[in-house]
Amino acid sequence: MPLTRCQFCTAQPLREVAVSRWRDDPEDRERITIELCGKHLRRLNKAGDKGHKHLGQFYKAGFW
Ligand SMILES: [Zn+2]
Repeated sequence: MPLTRCQFCTAQPLREVAVSRWRDDPEDRERITIELCGKHLRRLNKAGDKGHKHLGQFYKAGFW
């Protein structure tokens, strides 16, 4: 049984995704990969360029 969980909740991840993460300045972002469940993968994609906010940090799909 895999120990990985969705980055944003306790659900089992659907897949690993490459994201940009930042706190205040989108230009000052780090590029990481995180595990996401189906629900949060949809939310991330829906949030688009403004990013999905979670615990004071923003997440956006892709490294650009
Ligand atoms: Zn989730």
